[in-house]
Amino acid sequence: MRYFSTNRQSTAVGFREALFQGLAPDRGLYLPESFPEFNRTFYQKKMTYIELASEMIQPFVSENISSGKLLDICRAAFTFDIPLVYLIDNIFVLELFHGPTMAFKDFAARFMARCMEYLLSDEITILVATSGDTGSAVANGFFGLDGIQVVILYPSGRVSAIQEQQLTTYGGNITALEVEGTFDDCQQMVKEAFLDQNLNQQCSLSSANSINIARLLPQSVYYAWAWKQIGTDQSIVFSVPSGNFGNLTGGIIAKHMGLPVEKFIAATNANDVFPKYLETGEFNAMPSKQTISNAMDVGMPSNFDRILKIYNENVNKLRRDLTSWSFQDNETKYAIKYTKDKLNYLADPHTAVGLSGIEKYRQEVNKNLTGIALATAHPGKFPQVVEPVINEKIVIPKQLQKSMEKEKNSIIIPAHYSYLKEFLIHN
Ligand SMILES: *Cc1c(COP(=O)(O)O)cnc(C)c1O
Repeated sequence: MRYFSTNRQSTAVGFREALFQGLAPDRGLYLPESFPEFNRTFYQKKMTYIELASEMIQPFVSENISSGKLLDICRAAFTFDIPLVYLIDNIFVLELFHGPTMAFKDFAARFMARCMEYLLSDEITILVATSGDTGSAVANGFFGLDGIQVVILYPSGRVSAIQEQQLTTYGGNITALEVEGTFDDCQQMVKEAFLDQNLNQQCSLSSANSINIARLLPQSVYYAWAWKQIGTDQSIVFSVPSGNFGNLTGGIIAKHMGLPVEKFIAATNANDVFPKYLETGEFNAMPSKQTISNAMDVGMPSNFDRILKIYNENVNKLRRDLTSWSFQDNETKYAIKYTKDKLNYLADPHTAVGLSGIEKYRQEVNKNLTGIALATAHPGKFPQVVEPVINEKIVIPKQLQKSMEKEKNSIIIPAHYSYLKEFLIHN
């Protein structure tokens, strides 16, 4: 499989180059030149998650990773449960948060770390900007790997206490930079580092953000997994709480690989550039707004160009597969409370945005849908938001409690690229 850049100004590369480069030299994002198609029989076949993942990912990596090795990588990466929980009336929740950091980012980070470890030839520094969950998943995925340094940038005061602990308590090959700015600032600084030729002559950088194609491939597998669990022949509506749209892009890839999907709902918080784009056909990046679903506070979704290219920049084609709505914090809180009181299910603030999407679709588009809301984080990661809404203390899982007891260790830097550069050169 070759990967082309969305800007079309760089030459196509193989999986290994795309994995380590992250961003293409022309600043574009890598996309596979084609999507291997599997038929319905394939998706109906009885398989384990590891087998399904290997089969779906193999065509994308076959030049560099044998099918036996890929099975090993998947076995080491996907070590946790993926329950599909029945809610009500053909509505389900796919819980993607049972990995070590309790957010869905574990799928991508653990897969990518193992691919890099296997294909690494020289020492590298992984740079990653995080609005909360990516950083901890990457820290967990890469912690202790030889020859790989990880530098995480996160916006000071804009991640939850538990998220911050998960970012700042690893030590070893993991460094946390606490940036006095927003997530967009962090993302911008990381982008600048990749484009700085002078810096890149001095250190070998790689990215673990969802600009990296290796993050997206494993995020297509659980859509097919959920479809298999439902076990009917019908099309399914997936509601995806979205920020940088990496999770959704994984779903779109699955659909292009033949998975029957009726519609994707891209559910956003107040950061609504994508729903506005679908409505008007015009895309205007905006400064990010702070919300209670902070991992989705993104004003310039980095996967937007990928989605456009997959649909040949045709907004009408996009509208056929995708619907997108934005929900305000009060609607998210209402969804948390309603789901808890009426359906006895506790959703975290991100998952609640996705559930709001399903409910709106049911009311406005298709009353008889079979819908799956992707649950992207455990509610225990956001007690400050969830507890006042349901008026109850929640149980914080042991693995989160453990990180609360460790000592925070971060380096505070202003939101300007020169500080990041200085750090990277001198460390
Ligand atoms: C990252 C994240 C999202 C958004 O995912 P994208 O791929 O950036 O759209 C949603 N929920 C949680 C809990 C996350 O950590």
